Amino acid sequence: MLKRLLICIVLLFSMCEVTFALSILPNSSPPLSPEQPDTSVPANSAGVKPSARDKQISSLAQLYHKYPETIKTRGERIKQIALTFDDAPDSRFTAQVLDVLDKHHVKATFFVIGERAKKHPELVARMNREGHSIGNHSYNHPQFSKISFDSFQDQILKTEQIIHQIVGYSPRLIRPPYGDITESQLKWAKAHGYKIINWNVDSLDWKGLSKEEVKKNILSSVGPGSIILQHAGGGEGSDLKGSIEALPEVIQELRDKGYTFVLVADMLHISMSKEKTTSPSLKRE
Ligand SMILES: [Zn+2]
Repeated sequence: MLKRLLICIVLLFSMCEVTFALSILPNSSPPLSPEQPDTSVPANSAGVKPSARDKQISSLAQLYHKYPETIKTRGERIKQIALTFDDAPDSRFTAQVLDVLDKHHVKATFFVIGERAKKHPELVARMNREGHSIGNHSYNHPQFSKISFDSFQDQILKTEQIIHQIVGYSPRLIRPPYGDITESQLKWAKAHGYKIINWNVDSLDWKGLSKEEVKKNILSSVGPGSIILQHAGGGEGSDLKGSIEALPEVIQELRDKGYTFVLVADMLHISMSKEKTTSPSLKRE
């Protein structure tokens, strides 16, 4: 009887441990498809069915667990935050975002789309000139798990070349559209010295939310080491007004709480460029 009771207790403890281990997995709610659907997204990648989506979320969670050094959603738990902006450059929104960041002396990380960088190189040059970091967000925003391996490589390398021509370096940081990537793509990225950067705070700004809604989405889930996802570009008809209006208040409120804003590369102590091996801040005087 006592033996049976002991077995029960041991079993109970090990179950608790499993539950606990799952709850502290770095990214128990991994990103997928919160990103803005883009006009350039191929038709077959729109509207992932819930079951397929669940599968992708679980496989992403496995990737986070298996490749913690290659795919990241946050930094160390210290009072630092990295603001990230996707889908730039965009002639409607990007300059406004840059103006706010400039006014508040905040440096951020922009994940740019190759096709758009080609159209608006001046905006990418401005990001770089003003001390922001540039990451690769594919050439025309496909969902990586839905394209061939060759197309995936092409999306990265073509965009890298365009960015290099504008800012003079090849980004080490890649953000896959919708946060979605397969294991073979991730292995390739790892072998070639890239880092895959997702997020752990989603503003959901691409939905055209109000300033208050964007603020709430960010401030209710932000914490030490957070990587926040916002957008500085969008598809036809998209409205980032709420996101841009929320930005000064988000910055102020987080500063009041003692947070500082850093580039993703600095947060992770890596170089933002593939050509250099040290953190950009270490390079600066
Ligand atoms: Zn995107």
